Amino acid sequence: MSIRSVPRAFAYPLALITALSMPAVLTAQPPSSATTAATMVAYRFKALVDPSGRTTADAVVLVQGDTIVRVGSGVRAIPRGVTVVDLRPYTAIPGLIDVHTHMTYWRDKANPTGPVPRSRDSVVAAAAWNARRTLETGVTTVRDLGASNYADIAMRDSINKGVMAGPRMFVSGYGLSKLTTAPRAGTPSGAPRGRVMDTSEIRTAVAAQVEAGADWIKMYGSTGSFQNVTSVQTFTDLEMQVAADAAHKAGKPIAIHSYGDSGGRAAMRAGAESVEHPGYLDDVTLKEFARRGTVYVPTVDHNRFYAENAALLGYDLRQVAELDSFRLLNLATATRAHAAGVKMAMGSDAVYWMFGENTRELGFMVKAGMTPVQALATATTNAAALLRMPTKLGRVAPGFFADIVAVEGDPTKDIDVVIRHVVWVMKGGKVVVGPASTSGGLGVHSKSAP
Ligand SMILES: [Zn+2]
Repeated sequence: MSIRSVPRAFAYPLALITALSMPAVLTAQPPSSATTAATMVAYRFKALVDPSGRTTADAVVLVQGDTIVRVGSGVRAIPRGVTVVDLRPYTAIPGLIDVHTHMTYWRDKANPTGPVPRSRDSVVAAAAWNARRTLETGVTTVRDLGASNYADIAMRDSINKGVMAGPRMFVSGYGLSKLTTAPRAGTPSGAPRGRVMDTSEIRTAVAAQVEAGADWIKMYGSTGSFQNVTSVQTFTDLEMQVAADAAHKAGKPIAIHSYGDSGGRAAMRAGAESVEHPGYLDDVTLKEFARRGTVYVPTVDHNRFYAENAALLGYDLRQVAELDSFRLLNLATATRAHAAGVKMAMGSDAVYWMFGENTRELGFMVKAGMTPVQALATATTNAAALLRMPTKLGRVAPGFFADIVAVEGDPTKDIDVVIRHVVWVMKGGKVVVGPASTSGGLGVHSKSAP
């Protein structure tokens, strides 16, 4: 089944869901107060899987506004008078977090080499599709690593205002990239747009992103992107240190892109909170990642996407072979990293029409030796800690945002259940994917057509 199609499970008779919820309401305990009962909704699932590995059978999640108030089990956990939404055919997991997206990179799959939107408004309008597809995979939060014209900031703010449907976004504005040739005399510096020559411009570039409202600083520390898998370090060790220090001084974390070993090591030693992509890291470096707690975001799956879509994207056979061998090396490194106890987080590096496939990276986490629950943690608790939101995101627990995903099947046994069998998504207490009858009275949107 395509993950885009409406799951068969929606054929479950909704009248039956309502009927099932009735006895629960009648036999429930008294509410703590009448007003609480009026505004609270109880969501009942077959089970709730916590990324720690703990499973609660017949789970009841009480939601008020955008927050989870209480988690319990069975009829006794449902206060009297509270609206009950019975989703007991399904198992609940926390809303997922994709820590590496490029939401503003939009292309039309039907015309992939055709024109792309340029102005900020047109980019944001096109990218609304990417945001929606991301929600449909169960991803309710992303960290977006690099955008032009602050389109990412516009998206983040529109989503937060509720005028655009999408995951909550942590954004970075322009990523810092190394200029190899000096701009012509008299032309303005590229530093505000992230293009820098030297250390003094690095500080200017970091300050510009912070000033524009970025949550993170992104630095491109090596070559390698799209069909190009070269891994040459671009910023020196010292320049990475200057960037990390400037980010931290401004109170912002930094993510550094490096396809290669030396850049990955330098990024970690500079104090980057996360290092993105490295296809290879040696054992000494992995040990140091583990000791420092630096997060490795392997992004194995995006090279699968490029290879599979090579014909549409105009990549040749040699490039496909390079993408394939990089992917194998990357997976082998992720396997060694997991064995070495390195903290890892799920990043899809999604661009174009890869949105909707954000969580396929979890399949590679399992191939790297994780259990399905450990893989789930890379997209929940590990990611939430990286985003500095460990008490608000990544778990279904009191005080956390009501970001909940219902899946069909047992996610503790098969990661494919998370990847391909998402049937219902709640973000911040609102049902964003699923039948209207499961909203507890709030509006919803159902899955987009294939
Ligand atoms: Zn990226």
